Amino acid sequence: MLFERLKALLFPPKCVLCGRLLEREETDLCHECRTDRPLYPRPSGGKEFIDRWTAVWYYDSMVRRSLLRYKFHGARHYASCYGRMLAMKLTEEDLTDFDLLTWIPVSAKRLRKRGYDQARLLAQAVGAELGREPTPTLRKKWDNPPQSGISGPAQRRANVLGIYQVLDPERVRGKKILLLDDILTTSATASECARMLLTAGAERVTLGAVAAGGRKKDNR
Ligand SMILES: [Zn+2]
Repeated sequence: MLFERLKALLFPPKCVLCGRLLEREETDLCHECRTDRPLYPRPSGGKEFIDRWTAVWYYDSMVRRSLLRYKFHGARHYASCYGRMLAMKLTEEDLTDFDLLTWIPVSAKRLRKRGYDQARLLAQAVGAELGREPTPTLRKKWDNPPQSGISGPAQRRANVLGIYQVLDPERVRGKKILLLDDILTTSATASECARMLLTAGAERVTLGAVAAGGRKKDNR
């Protein structure tokens, strides 16, 4: 109790998106970020190998900075906020009809370096909200150059081809899969993971992400 109060004094909770100190009645997000920030519109249709998909926010500057803190600067506690938001979005868009919850993993090398797999933490947080335990299904065999530095859809496709392996085809055969990742930019990576899961016999793959690209200019 004393420790908790001391912790709150030393590390007062801040808004996951804008970083402002939170008021006593606020959790995860400040009032402005929760009410005024536009959510990602419900997408129509799927993507290559992906049945349906959704994201919580646009991948614009404020969300991007939040996700960078989450991925590279140790703000792993953001997972619970992202998880709550994504679970709510999935529920709203009727995407919770799945047999198996899984995520797009980082490589073993990256995991050692970073100490955590951000997409796995997200899957655990979403799973906690939806009352489902996430299952590992994929392995990233090696680290490829980041997709963001590669131009052209064919080049991005080639950059991810064959780098994911299904851990146990028995586990995914005939299953409706909900695949999670933190950021969906070009979707080449997610499509490649979905392709592997479908090849291993999955019935369909639905995708959920914290943020997705789409809106070009936004400085908020
Ligand atoms: Zn905020």
